Amino acid sequence: MTMTPERTDSAMLHSELRVECDPDAIIRDGHRLDHAEGTSKPLRPAPEPQPRGAKVRGNRPIDQQEAAARFIAATEHEKMHDERLWDLRQKRDREMHGIPEWEELRSLASAIKEHTLTHLDEYLDQFEANARSNGIHVHWARDAAEHNKIVHGILRDHRATSLIKSKSMLTEECGFRHYMASVGIEVIETDLGERIQQLDNEDPSHVVVPAVHKLRTDVAEVFSHTIGTDPGNTDVHYLAEAQREATRPLILNADAGMTGANFVVAETGTFVVCTNEGNADLSANVPKLHIASIGIEKIVPRLEHLAVFVRLLSRSALGSPMTQYTSHFRGPRTGGEMHVVLVDNGRSERLGLEEFWTSLKCIRCGACMNTCPVYRRSGGLSYGATYSGPIGLIIDPTFNARKYSNLPFASSLNGSCTNVCPVKINIHEQIYAWRRVLVKQHEVPLAKKAAMKAAGVLLSRPAAYRAAIASADTALAHLPRFVIYNGLNAWGKHREVPHSPEQTFHSWYHANRGAKR
Ligand code: SF4
Repeated sequence: MTMTPERTDSAMLHSELRVECDPDAIIRDGHRLDHAEGTSKPLRPAPEPQPRGAKVRGNRPIDQQEAAARFIAATEHEKMHDERLWDLRQKRDREMHGIPEWEELRSLASAIKEHTLTHLDEYLDQFEANARSNGIHVHWARDAAEHNKIVHGILRDHRATSLIKSKSMLTEECGFRHYMASVGIEVIETDLGERIQQLDNEDPSHVVVPAVHKLRTDVAEVFSHTIGTDPGNTDVHYLAEAQREATRPLILNADAGMTGANFVVAETGTFVVCTNEGNADLSANVPKLHIASIGIEKIVPRLEHLAVFVRLLSRSALGSPMTQYTSHFRGPRTGGEMHVVLVDNGRSERLGLEEFWTSLKCIRCGACMNTCPVYRRSGGLSYGATYSGPIGLIIDPTFNARKYSNLPFASSLNGSCTNVCPVKINIHEQIYAWRRVLVKQHEVPLAKKAAMKAAGVLLSRPAAYRAAIASADTALAHLPRFVIYNGLNAWGKHREVPHSPEQTFHSWYHANRGAKR
């Protein structure tokens, strides 16, 4: 058969056959003979496309269910995500069992945080005074806009046009990268996962592992478009090395560096950053200008308190005894300059919310996300918010109750999040409390509100409830299938209604045990 030029057009071939520099390739008349003996490779199915996150439309309520359904439909992604996070949860359990005083540590951490939060003004003042005497410039930002302006002002004063930064959820809250892009300053993320997300123009989907929702094929695709790697090569070492090669020159030539902080110590005026890649140390030490953006709730009173949190943080987050780097920053290095921006951005207001103020104890370990069955199966980007998973459900509505009004309903309230939280936040109780608040504030759809009201009436009247159950069983047995299994009923897409037993528990109990009482 004569092979026409069209048939050898590389665009027609599966991506795994389009290897540009294959030494075994047989070339004829300037065309590679991909099916020639010795060069053919097994065809693999095209990788599953990455499901994208929730659609964000201004202030309109995020439809987490819709985005979660798309994530679940991408079966490879859902399976990998579920397994990867459950693995972290199991590692966390193993580490926890190795520390006999684990529960005492949790109680201590909770008590330290509650004490600090109830004396926040004093400890912040103490930190500011000590940090200034260490040579640090301290700034205060009321909100995201003020934070971004302050950082921009510092960079402008130093004529800085490029900034390397380590992962920081606070800067995500502030929309920092977008702001910097609008004023012409290039921001380069130094954390590998965060850099992947930056190159893919996506938010982080997890507070510790920002790209955990991506398959290797997704990363290969992102890198092939942005740094020119081979799209068919999904080897993690190849991808990580390619990223390192591409980013290292940007890091070495950056004008300024930025970090967040995991903990701030009032008595010493110092702060601590924990990473596993050492990227915060690059951000802080390569350029002469170091800016740290820190939420005001990160403070602890004394250096000795750090030991409690450092023992809990990495074990809870990744199931490892320590982060690879736990770096203490005390002041600018010789010839350098250090700035700390203390950011409120709604924290003071949250401190005044009687039912929700203890959410400020959070040390962003992500353990509640790793254990949550809803989060594991729906992916962090389905929440359409900076914070996802159980901690997101109780923090996000404090930023915007209307926009995030659906989120507290994305939970089974099983309490596992509360059980694993290293600072003992009563997460599932706060999720439940948010539901009550949102119903009172009329932020819940009318249909859901009416259904809940009807259920409340029914459940509070035993006779009516039993009559309803009996008639529902009869109705289910005779209803045409399409009434339940139709395109409008998301519940029926993945489930079958089980056959109802011939006897309800109540009538069984009445027949078998009731007479013995
Ligand atoms: S709420 Fe608790 S478990 Fe969840 S991220 Fe914060 S500290 Fe970790």
